[in-house]
Parts: sequence; structure tokens; C-alpha cells
Amino acid sequence: MTETKPVLAVVGRPNVGKSLMVNRIIGRREAVVQDLPGVTRDRVSYDASWNGRDFIIVDTGGWVSDADGMAARIAEQAELAIGAADAVLFVVDATVGITDEDEAVVRVLRRSGKPVVLAANKVDDQRLEAEAAAMWNLGLGEPYPVSALHGRGSGDLLDAILTALPEAPSANYEEVGGPRRVAIVGKPNVGKSSLLNKLSGQQRSVVDNASGTTVDPVDELVELGGEVYRFIDTAGLRRRVKEASGHEYYASLRTQQAIERAEVCVVVIDAAETISDQDLKILTMVEEAGKAMVIAYNKWDLTDDERRRYLEREIERDIHAFGWAPHVNISALTGRNVDKLKKAIDAALEGWETRVSTGQLNSFLGRVAAAHPHPVRSGKQPRILFGTQAQNCPPTFVLFTSGRLDPQYERFVERRLREEFGFVGSPVAVEVRARE
Ligand code: GDP
Repeated sequence: MTETKPVLAVVGRPNVGKSLMVNRIIGRREAVVQDLPGVTRDRVSYDASWNGRDFIIVDTGGWVSDADGMAARIAEQAELAIGAADAVLFVVDATVGITDEDEAVVRVLRRSGKPVVLAANKVDDQRLEAEAAAMWNLGLGEPYPVSALHGRGSGDLLDAILTALPEAPSANYEEVGGPRRVAIVGKPNVGKSSLLNKLSGQQRSVVDNASGTTVDPVDELVELGGEVYRFIDTAGLRRRVKEASGHEYYASLRTQQAIERAEVCVVVIDAAETISDQDLKILTMVEEAGKAMVIAYNKWDLTDDERRRYLEREIERDIHAFGWAPHVNISALTGRNVDKLKKAIDAALEGWETRVSTGQLNSFLGRVAAAHPHPVRSGKQPRILFGTQAQNCPPTFVLFTSGRLDPQYERFVERRLREEFGFVGSPVAVEVRARE
């Protein structure tokens, strides 16, 4: 089982500086820097760490607003993010003061009962601290005056965030040792709901509605071939109103949250249509999240010989990088091959959990180096001194070397690792620590 990290949602109306704040917290410049309306982002969650504690930060800054009903839309968006979080960082703009939109978010925060840390942003110098103090009026406790731009106050803010986050995420959110957690993901209309219906048939049972609020994910326990699996966030698939009427951003947020919670993801792709960037994006999300993956080419009943030939070429061209994921050609409509998914899911989970002993790994590395030594670089030849599997789920290797490895050589070792040990259905991570 993977260790699960607590989740912090960052909410606030547009232009308060959420993205910059996220950048501060994750210590990178990965998130888009402006809160410009109209800027949508693909990624909404990031790994963060402070004082040796890891957590996941969900950025809601990519949300696009329109003029009417803005307060309501912001509240709705916040509700979605808050539902899946363990704590919330609420960002307000100290230079503007409290707005209606801010108050709409406060109501949602109150209802959620989640711990809230209040950041009064844009306090770029001391003179603005009085403005920050006015944020006590929101009734959410102490406002932390910060400047996401200059980094002012971010240490105190991060300390407060750590205090608000639970040591481990709430128990019913990620139960360890229970049924395997499966997420069905894919772009809209590829047949995710149809597949869930086919898989669950009559015998599904709805499990927890985590903490009673309407937006919390509802999972279903489904029996496949005598074994029970927990299908994640099926409310999103069954209650499609939000996804259908809402912004594409909702779908992306939901997808990302489902992937985070899952151990294995079934990525559904419409075989009757050309593989799109959106499909590839979702495959990449699963890989980057380090989850096991199965690809289901659905609507097989709609494909003819010509389409299948095209599809094969598209797969070769676009899905090549995900060749490690087992795939099944299915029809959620007719039920074709749907029973084969269980085997693919189990195989992917097995690859994901693989452990290679240090002895096995080092004898393998020795053989690789003997057969294909690293090329000499400016008179030196970097060598792999020792390797160890730091963790599984997904398999993650650390190689200790006498010098930096060429990227090609690194990829070569990764490829050989797969050839040797399999890891079917799982991403594999290799980290190199060079002694220089
Ligand atoms: P979702 O948005 O991914 O959950 O997609 P749905 O399950 O709602 O399916 C979208 C549309 O595709 C619906 O009209 C389904 O009936 C149809 N559909 C789903 N799976 C199949 C399939 O295997 N074959 C055919 N012909 N249609 C399908």
C-alpha cells in the first residue's frame, strides 16, 4: 500500500494570488503565475513539503469565471475542492478588503467543518498589516499577513498549514488494507458511466458518503470474479449534472482527485474516435501520479476493419510511451471483453507492488554495466556503484553513481529494468545520486 498524504485545497476568488501562493509553497515555478480569468491549467495538484512533512496541494486557481453568478460559481468550485481536502488555505486580498465573493466562500467553509488557514495576501510591506487585520472580520480566526510575491510571512503561514493538516488523511478517505481502489477515468462521453454500470450490474453497494456533505465522493463496492473492489468517486460518474453543465475544469479536478485516491486507474478511450490530446493528458496524469494503469479501448462495437487499422497506427504513434500498460478492447454496450478487465487490473496492481531485492537488483546492475558500460565523458567513466529499490507502488529505484549519467544511459537502464523485472501496468521511477 502507498503512504497517503494529507490534502490542502487552496481557494479564493480570482486575482487574489492563489497561483503565486501555490508556487511559494511548492517552491517551484510550475504553476501558472497569473490568476488571469481565462487561463486554464491542466495540472491542479502538486506535491509539497515543509519541515519534513509531505502533503498534496490542490490549486483551484485555474477556474475560469464569468461575470454573472460569479459568487455562486466560486462557492461551487470551492465546495468541490474543499470536499476532497483535509484542510483549506483560504486566500484573500488584503489590499481590496472583504468582498461578496469572499463571503460566499466563507459560508461554504463553515458548512464543511474543515480546518481553515486564512492568508491575507499582498501585504508587501508593514504598512499594509492593518489591512490584513481587518480580515479578522471574516470570522475565520487569525489572518496570516503574507506576500506571495516577496515571500513575506510564508514561514508562519506554512507552520499554520502544518498544524491544520492531520498527520494522516482522514481514515475513511483512504482506508489501508481494504478492497483495492480502482478509478475509471477518461474524457467525457467515452463510456465511463456505461462501463461502471456494466461492471457493477445489480450487485453494487454504495459505501460511505465520507462526512455527510453533498459533494463528498461516494465509492461503490463492486464484486468482480469473486473479489471485491472499491470503485472511487462513482458519484461523479452517476450524478453527471455537474460534469455536464459545469466547466471542463470540474472534470479535470474530479479526474485528478480520483486518480490521487486510486491504486489503479482504468483509462477509458473511445476506440471509434481519433485518439486526442485529452486522452494523452489523462494517461500522463496517471503516470505522473505513479498509479497502476489499464487502458480500455471502448465502443469496440462501433469500429470496423478500417478504423481498427487506423487505431493501431494511432496507438503506435501516441500511446507508445505507455506501452507498459495492459490494454483491453471492450464494449460497455454489448459487454464484450468487460470480464477481461479484472485480470488486467490485477496484473497492473501486481506490477505496481513488485519488490526487487537489493541482491537481485545489484546483480542485474552488474550485468548491465558489464555488457553496456557507460560511455567515457571527458576522460571519466561514470559507474553505477550500487542500487536499491526505495519503495514500491510504484517501483522506485535509487542508483548511486560515481558521476552524472547521460540521460540516454539512464533511459537505457530504465528500459532494461522493465525487461528484467516486468512491472507490467506500473510506472517506474529511477533516481540517480551522483557522488561528484
Ligand atoms: P462518460 O461520459 O464517459 O461516462 O460516457 P457515457 O457512459 O455516458 O457514454 C457516452 C455515450 O456513449 C452514451 O450515449 C453511451 O450509451 C455510449 N456508449 C458507451 N459505451 C459504448 C459502447 O461500448 N458502444 C457504443 N456503441 N456506445 C457506447
